[in-house]
Amino acid sequence: MNADLHLNAAATEINAARPQWSRAEAQAIYDSPFNDLLFRAQTVHRENFDPNRVQMSRLLSIKTGGCPEDCGYCSQSSRHESGLKASKLMEVQRVLAEAKKAKDGGATRYCMGAAWRSPKERDMDAVVAMIEGVKELGMETCMTLGMLDLGQAQRLKQAGLDYYNHNIDTSERYYNEIITTRTFADRLDTLANVRDSGIKVCCGGIVGMGEEKADRVDMLLTLANLPEHPDSVPINMLIPIEGTPLGEADPIEPIEFVRTIALARIMMPKSHVRLSAGRTAMSDEMQALCFFAGANSIFVGDTLLTAENPGEDKDTALFRRLGIQPMELDAG
Ligand code: SF4
Repeated sequence: MNADLHLNAAATEINAARPQWSRAEAQAIYDSPFNDLLFRAQTVHRENFDPNRVQMSRLLSIKTGGCPEDCGYCSQSSRHESGLKASKLMEVQRVLAEAKKAKDGGATRYCMGAAWRSPKERDMDAVVAMIEGVKELGMETCMTLGMLDLGQAQRLKQAGLDYYNHNIDTSERYYNEIITTRTFADRLDTLANVRDSGIKVCCGGIVGMGEEKADRVDMLLTLANLPEHPDSVPINMLIPIEGTPLGEADPIEPIEFVRTIALARIMMPKSHVRLSAGRTAMSDEMQALCFFAGANSIFVGDTLLTAENPGEDKDTALFRRLGIQPMELDAG
């Protein structure tokens, strides 16, 4: 049996052990009366997690801007006029100094993002040194570097990488409206390489990009029916950025956003559902509803790659009002 067939067989075995969600089931859950939806999501959440703990990650852009891809939401694409200045790959020592600060501030996971289509061979030594250095600080490591082949994924795993982020962004149907420089299937291939190398998968998407409700359901359905559920599922609310094709997009209705979080929680009970970009545009009450619906992870720090994020003081104050505690490292 060749390697591909072998992997497919393994995936089929896992799928056979876990029931697949149907489109109709997922849509019915998403559309159920809001109180029923929240009750179900909170029940699933309590069966799998401490409902009053939220995992905190810190994100650093290790290489900003100048990206050859054309993701319609992104300020870092060289094809958009967002005014963002491109930078080179950050020096390893600077990354480690920033990681140390994040650890002192309470973050347990350090996420490093580079605006690349995929990492080049010449960059791999530095990337490996960053992973090893952050691990030595006693933190979990996560990277997002674009598409990976199996060899690259295995090298990152050997360096000690815990998580790799690669979002599917939206539904397969809507994908071409947002990105044309790589396909939905390319994304799934990278996810398979990450999974097969033994790195935990962080994969979610963005809502509020002009998609329909069915696209939000389909995006989550794709994730929920992967051979293994992603360990982390970041759900981003679009921050429209001037100069990008989605700079004028209408905001998503908050209740629709909360429904998306609840459906993610119900279909992927053991995954960390992360309230990611867009929290600056959410009221405290909307964030509280998202936590009730099953979100249990956030990014801390006042920037997210290039976008704004609530400052730590604001998050600490909100957590205090809600009685939420940070999640311990081995639980997150
Ligand atoms: S989202 Fe990532 S791949 Fe897409 S343009 Fe931005 S940096 Fe590049």
